[in-house]
Formats: sequence, C-alpha cells, structure tokens
Amino acid sequence: MMQFVIVGGSNGRVVLQVACVVCDKPKQLTVTSEQALELARPDRRNIQYVLPDVARAQRELLITGTCGDCWKELFSPPASR
Ligand SMILES: [Zn+2]
Repeated sequence: MMQFVIVGGSNGRVVLQVACVVCDKPKQLTVTSEQALELARPDRRNIQYVLPDVARAQRELLITGTCGDCWKELFSPPASR
C-alpha cells in the first residue's frame, strides 16, 4: 500500500493525497475519517473492504500508486487508440 498524506477535510471527511508513481502528479481522494483511521492501521482489512464506496481507479491509487489516467494509459487495449 502507498503512503498517503492528509491534506484536508471537514465534516467527517478526510482528503488523502498520493503521488502517482507513473506521472508523479499528486492525486487526491476523499474518504471518511473512520476509513482514514483504518487505512493507517497495520492490521487493516483489505482496501476493497475498507473503501467499498470508493471507485476502483481511486483504490488502485492507494494500492499500487497508479492514478486513473495512467491506469487507463497502461491497460487500455492498443486497438482502441
Ligand atoms: Zn498518473
């Protein structure tokens, strides 16, 4: 799992920031404060159970450090370009 920094938040929501390992751009996603706390725990559950309401592309950012744009770039079939 990627290291994230907390860059903001309000009303029980927390904004996490992760630098994409491919394009090196800072990418943000919003989770609840409970989810952020669980993500910081060493014994956390699998991310898909911690963040069931977060889009898969955003979870990938936390798991593999690849942002949605780069994910599409890397895994889209060449024929569709
Ligand atoms: Zn990227």
